[in-house]
Amino acid sequence: MNGHYIKDPWSIVDEGFFPEMQEASESIFSLGNGRMGQRANFEERYSGATLQGNYLAGVYYPDKTRVGWWKNGYPEYFAKVLNAPNWVGIDVEIDGEVLDLHKTDPVNFRRELNMQQGYLERTFTIIFKGSKLHISARRFLSMKRDEIGAIRYAIRSEDYSGTISFTPYIDGNVVNRDSNYNEHFWEMLETFAGKGTAHLKARTRKSGFVSCMTMGYKLYLDGKILGPDPELTERSNYVANKVSVKVEAGNELVFQKYVSVLSSMNHDEKSMVEEGAKLLNDALKTGYDGLYKEHITVWENNWATSDIIIEGDTAAQQGIRFNIFQLNQTYTGKDERLNIGPKGFTGEKYGGSTYWDTEAYLIPFYLSTAPVEVSRNLLVYRYKHLQKAIENGEKLGFNSGAALYPMVTMNGEECHNEWEITFEEVHRNGAIAYAIYNYVRYTGDWDYLGEFGLEVLIGISRFWRQRVNWSDVRGKYVMLGVTGPNEYENNVNNNWYTNRMAGWTLSYAIEALNHVMELAPGAYSEIMERTGFDFKEETSAWKDIIENLHFPFNEEKGVFLQQDGYLDKKQWMAADLDPKQRPINQNWSWDRILRSCFIKQADVLQGIYTFEEEYDFDTIKRNFDFYEPRTVHESSLSPCVHSILASRIGKPDKAYEMYLRTSRLDLDDYNNEVNEGLHITSMGGTWMSVVYGFGGMKIRDGELSFNPRLPEKWKGLSFKILYRGRTLKVNIEKSKVTVENLEGEDMDLLLSNDRIRLKSGDTVFADL
Ligand code: BGC
Repeated sequence: MNGHYIKDPWSIVDEGFFPEMQEASESIFSLGNGRMGQRANFEERYSGATLQGNYLAGVYYPDKTRVGWWKNGYPEYFAKVLNAPNWVGIDVEIDGEVLDLHKTDPVNFRRELNMQQGYLERTFTIIFKGSKLHISARRFLSMKRDEIGAIRYAIRSEDYSGTISFTPYIDGNVVNRDSNYNEHFWEMLETFAGKGTAHLKARTRKSGFVSCMTMGYKLYLDGKILGPDPELTERSNYVANKVSVKVEAGNELVFQKYVSVLSSMNHDEKSMVEEGAKLLNDALKTGYDGLYKEHITVWENNWATSDIIIEGDTAAQQGIRFNIFQLNQTYTGKDERLNIGPKGFTGEKYGGSTYWDTEAYLIPFYLSTAPVEVSRNLLVYRYKHLQKAIENGEKLGFNSGAALYPMVTMNGEECHNEWEITFEEVHRNGAIAYAIYNYVRYTGDWDYLGEFGLEVLIGISRFWRQRVNWSDVRGKYVMLGVTGPNEYENNVNNNWYTNRMAGWTLSYAIEALNHVMELAPGAYSEIMERTGFDFKEETSAWKDIIENLHFPFNEEKGVFLQQDGYLDKKQWMAADLDPKQRPINQNWSWDRILRSCFIKQADVLQGIYTFEEEYDFDTIKRNFDFYEPRTVHESSLSPCVHSILASRIGKPDKAYEMYLRTSRLDLDDYNNEVNEGLHITSMGGTWMSVVYGFGGMKIRDGELSFNPRLPEKWKGLSFKILYRGRTLKVNIEKSKVTVENLEGEDMDLLLSNDRIRLKSGDTVFADL
């Protein structure tokens, strides 16, 4: 499938209809608006292979954990991302025959995901008993009114005369593909179909979320509005109107479907029907064009701060825009109860919505491209889950306020149930602590520590203190039985990355304590009281760990060891694997994977990337040269970190190869699984590989710095970043980098290692 979609800088385009790729394309062409999202299922009927998917932010189902051998500490449930009632459907009939693209060969089929304006459009022609009908269907999920979706379905008859009918519907008869025994997760509460409208209200089983979808429509014949009497259908889980019109050759019928989609996350269940009707009526009044105009204005504003322009390489350009587009339509940062799941609104795999991916891979993107509140909300989300993280710790035997954040969550409770991950992949706690540091150093919002950050740092530090133990043999603190980011090793001792994150958290927590004590004494006393913190006892225990924590290192090779004993494994290189055996996770037994030296994703290198300032060039290079060849990159989160480090150590070809792999992972389906949904969280990593990697951006000793290195193929790269109230535009050419302070106060920055004063409105440059 590599290279299947047409390369265009602003759009993803598919020409020709390929039923075998339908599910893959449904993922690629997905739409969302932060509040809801959907796979690109067709409006009209489709009887071929398809994965139906409509998702509502924050709405999930707690599926009972089923395992063969129950282990104490397992969560009760696994949170499933729920497929919600289908509101995009419009059955189309021509002379009573239902249009089904699986049964009719469409001619000149083209679909486009226009990323600049955020719409999906399909155009095609069908030949019906020798006559031609040209169809174009465009839809968008309003970014402005995030509970509104609109579809414009137009049919132009070239030489057909007869009857065409449209049956817009809402269908609650939906299942999840990953459900056990085809269970239905929605229980219908109310269905209604009236002239020109219909609604369906349903409740999720167990979790009790209620959704109400209300539809309306307008029908035009050659620009004139029609109001035929509809045939109504109202079943227990389905509502529809059916309208029929006679057309002649040359006529154009335009059917507009409007839907309001509400959930009890934001509405009182009792008033939902009225509120849904009101939102729908407002949308009908504004009309399709008016809604569309509002919608594209939001996209214009998004692109104004988040676009990246790559000159001389359309594949790379399309790749980065696809990633940025998906990130902006998955999370808008308006609601601190929401987060970003690995598949966003594009598939059901993974369940839950929050992984360490958010802190490690997404916060950097939102910090630099969106208002501060957006990344702040992502941090506050974790603050609000602190109590649950402490309870989670207690469940596993920790005490005294030790917080272990879940590996996967929806509402703060753990909902992942593989012991080697749930109990052992504890490095996620480190990423959450680091995100606080990252946010504060980037935004300068030190108040955040007193308000929310410090309490989280205390909870996490208490966990680390209890998670390590003193080893008499080593005369060091050790951390046993963990899984690092490389999930192809389980239950290892002293994973270097995890120990590094633990030691670092303890130091930063002490720094944060001192900072809040000095600058926000009021907040400090409240936190001390709430947490029952014993400053002397706890910080001295932390200091002892900081000074005496064991970090595995191999003198001979001069590399940090991924874990104790890593070098006992047979050492061979990923390049020596038989290509037919890759990806190994689809071809090897788990046992074989665990005993091999192969690394799923950056592990030691994740730590080097995180604390890069602390390592010299040779250390980074030695570790990269050792670990990268052993890495199979079978997590979408892997290539971006390698791309950034390869840029740093002067390996532009490797950096570029890894960049394409991260940015076009889904477009070119590198992992052969895009049909299941997109890799939304790794898309933040793609952004990092351009801005941190090729753009060479860093915060160095509290100062913004750029040290760019363009890939050979690129003529230019430019992007904007928001930094402490300023908007900066960075433009990189082969031999020159310029930074323009478009808006905001004067500042100092480091450009190719020289400190430069950049005044408001001015441009500075450096030769490369
Ligand atoms: C990766 C994890 C990641 C998860 C969700 C896994 O394959 O190994 O690091 O958190 O996917 O993206």
